[in-house]
Amino acid sequence: MTHYVYTFGGGAVSDDPRAKDKTITGGKGANLAEMASIGLPVPPGFTITTEMCVKYLAEGANFDDQLRADVASALTHIERTVGKKFGDPADPLLVSVRSGARVSMPGMMDTVLNLGLNDETVEGLAAVSGDERFAWDSYRRFIQMYSDVVLGLDHGLFEEALEIAKEDNGYSADIELTAGDWKTLVAQYKSIAQSELGEPFPMDVNDQLWGAIAAVFGSWDSERAKIYRRLNGIPGGWGTAVNIQAMVFGNMGETSATGVAFTRDPATGEKVYYGEYLINAQGEDVVAGIRTPQYLTKAAKDAAGAQLPSMEESMPDAYGELARVFDLLENHYRDMQDIEFTVQQGKLWMLQTRTGKRTAKAALKMAVEMVAEGLIDEADAVRRIDPMALDQLLHPTLDPDAPRDVLTVGLPASPGAASGAVVFDADTAEQLAERGEAVILVRVETSPEDIHGMHAAKGILTARGGMTSHAAVVARGMGRPCVSGASALSIDRKTKIATISGTELKEGDVITLDGATGEVMKGAVPTIEPELVGDFATLMEWADKKRRMRVRTNAETPADCRIARQFGAEGIGLCRTEHMFFDAARISSVREMILADDEAGRRKALTKLLPEQRSDFKGIFTEMAGLPVTIRLLDPPLHEFLPHADEEFAELAEITGYGVDHLKRRANELHEFNPMLGHRGCRLGITFPEIYEMQVRAIFEAACEVADESGDAPVPEVMIPLVATRRELEILRVLVDRVALQVFGEKGRTLEYLVGTMIELPRAALMADAIAEEGEFFSFGTNDLTQTTLGVSRDDAARFLTPYVDKGIYPRDPFVSLDIEGVGQLVELAVERGRKTRPDIKLGICGEHGGDPASIAFCERTGLDYVSASPYRVPIARLAAAQASLAE
Ligand code: PEP
Ligand code: MG
Repeated sequence: MTHYVYTFGGGAVSDDPRAKDKTITGGKGANLAEMASIGLPVPPGFTITTEMCVKYLAEGANFDDQLRADVASALTHIERTVGKKFGDPADPLLVSVRSGARVSMPGMMDTVLNLGLNDETVEGLAAVSGDERFAWDSYRRFIQMYSDVVLGLDHGLFEEALEIAKEDNGYSADIELTAGDWKTLVAQYKSIAQSELGEPFPMDVNDQLWGAIAAVFGSWDSERAKIYRRLNGIPGGWGTAVNIQAMVFGNMGETSATGVAFTRDPATGEKVYYGEYLINAQGEDVVAGIRTPQYLTKAAKDAAGAQLPSMEESMPDAYGELARVFDLLENHYRDMQDIEFTVQQGKLWMLQTRTGKRTAKAALKMAVEMVAEGLIDEADAVRRIDPMALDQLLHPTLDPDAPRDVLTVGLPASPGAASGAVVFDADTAEQLAERGEAVILVRVETSPEDIHGMHAAKGILTARGGMTSHAAVVARGMGRPCVSGASALSIDRKTKIATISGTELKEGDVITLDGATGEVMKGAVPTIEPELVGDFATLMEWADKKRRMRVRTNAETPADCRIARQFGAEGIGLCRTEHMFFDAARISSVREMILADDEAGRRKALTKLLPEQRSDFKGIFTEMAGLPVTIRLLDPPLHEFLPHADEEFAELAEITGYGVDHLKRRANELHEFNPMLGHRGCRLGITFPEIYEMQVRAIFEAACEVADESGDAPVPEVMIPLVATRRELEILRVLVDRVALQVFGEKGRTLEYLVGTMIELPRAALMADAIAEEGEFFSFGTNDLTQTTLGVSRDDAARFLTPYVDKGIYPRDPFVSLDIEGVGQLVELAVERGRKTRPDIKLGICGEHGGDPASIAFCERTGLDYVSASPYRVPIARLAAAQASLAE
């Protein structure tokens, strides 16, 4: 029988491997079970599995009798362990109810604390704890949280009531409220709930419990959870587990505390304990950023110049115990841990551990240092770095020599630099970003509702919140620079004006953030290219040792080639020659060529383009110094180059001597209904061979000249686009060979070269055996192959792909991550058939997927020789290819 409930703590060690399997009990549940089993102090509890969540959501939100019975017996396990009974008016057991999916989704799912309190049990809690104030404070927290998370009431109503109570009493902080004040507030809270709900706040502890379980399951399908999943490629079918655990209290006076910590610094990777705690507080106080937390270690406190004592100073015993647990956990999991803990009257309790999110810089430093410490080996280090996270390191940083107009310094919550226009809400951030504008999201604090805006923004600035606030955690995960807790910042929500130390900022004003120093600067500060040295270089060296596939780049200018080579590119996998045609100085010759009436007219214009193309290729060959360079002949439909404006036609009339009307008529004739399926690719070469002849001549003249001048003989790979049949490739291969021979004759030398094709049409994949008779290499053009296999226009897909991904029709955007199941079959088939004809055929991929780790893993499994990615993706591809090799 499948178990849906697993207990942990209190000596209950399940030998069922499912109990510690994240896919079953979720990340939190699995790690609680693990911590309990290695003897760490974990409050007893139980986990309802993710499978139950999926079943519950599929079966119309119903709990079956079996589950009810299992939960009742698991509750008994907690009751027996702590010696209290759930709902007992004399000495009640209180529990927390928390979600926990397979991977952590920060802030996405909801938590309820202090569950089990009602008008009767609160009295028992007061009596047993001897602290009436604590009991009533806990009760009001419970009502507020439960109302918000489970009952869906606006938490603002409760906060408002609290603010009024403070004002009426002349208090400035929550800590000043007395037991009597909380009691009065509880009555108010209950009446708020009653008037909003139209029924009383639930007093039956079992109703409370099942309501909370239902809310956690239901929150899996909340809008914000869906957005987070979409952004992070998490399948909707996983579900979340529910963890129910005996409460421990960090708010039982001055010897109690609650905190969050990392075993190493998640921003820099340094080997120091890192974290924050609050005395006499409950968990959500730290994360919510309401009170500014204190430092864990004395060193961190001193470095920040903070006043309040560190935990190391104020609670040396509990701190010592915590430090011991840190080391134990790191050795056990062999990775940096992110921990939640509570100290209840001097005793330390562990509430959670998980592998900590980290910046890319920190990830590299930790991985390299853990190899040196002997904790992991080089292969582990390579496996452990998320290739996409490297992106954070590959982009420019602030020029240290540029002047900075610093407005204020907040907490350096997530490193990296960003400049952009100030916006005050997530929706505006998203709208402006869609229009291509760089924006900085400026908030008092962020909440899970802001995720889409944080993602759209280049950087995030908040007035409140510590290093572990929502904004900080999420920004680090997303790789967005973030400055949090900038207390000099105030925002007037009505006028939409922010003030920082006297300077006013309106929406649209440009600021710069330095997430590594916490500086907030006026205006845009210039940036410099990153240097890829130190830990980065070490790790990439290890990765290169493990990698089988080569990594090339898609580039068409010498400048891009240079960047790509610095990033480790081993050749060019795709040089799109049409990009060179758009150059302002050339476009009129291109247009002259397109609009010419006959071959003679076209040849005349092509003569002007030849020297330009030749010098392009010389630049590229020189930069690539003998590495293979794949040059694709003209591909796009001609209509993409057509003039539009009257002035453009007038200018062209002057150059060509044709009348404007004549040119407009010609342009009209070139109109196509479906240009992407029209007169493009090799079809151009077949119908206008003079265009390809000019390009091939430019390639070989350039290659011969570079070989003569530098001694690094280029190896051109001439690539024919959009081939569907063997005969197309045959005709064009003959053309390439003929022109190459002519040029070799003229130059008095020869060079090695290859002629091959892109596989970007389903027919080409199916006919790969025949096509391989003519082509020496295949490069999978998976952009077009995806478009033509799915029948989805790559230029129009954005309109409907988001709901498609949300509904699980495609697991991810198929233009970003290869549709392995479908399009992948065509790739596999073409590889197999191509190799049958030509066993040594060279195989690569040059669609966008060549820079996507999941697609790269597929390319490794399929046995391709190389992947080709845009320059900034080259290191990502190198690492992903190494990981793919290790996985094989
Ligand atoms: C492709 O189709 O995958 C490709 C690389 O060519 P382009 O994107 O230029 O059509
Ligand atoms: Mg293509």
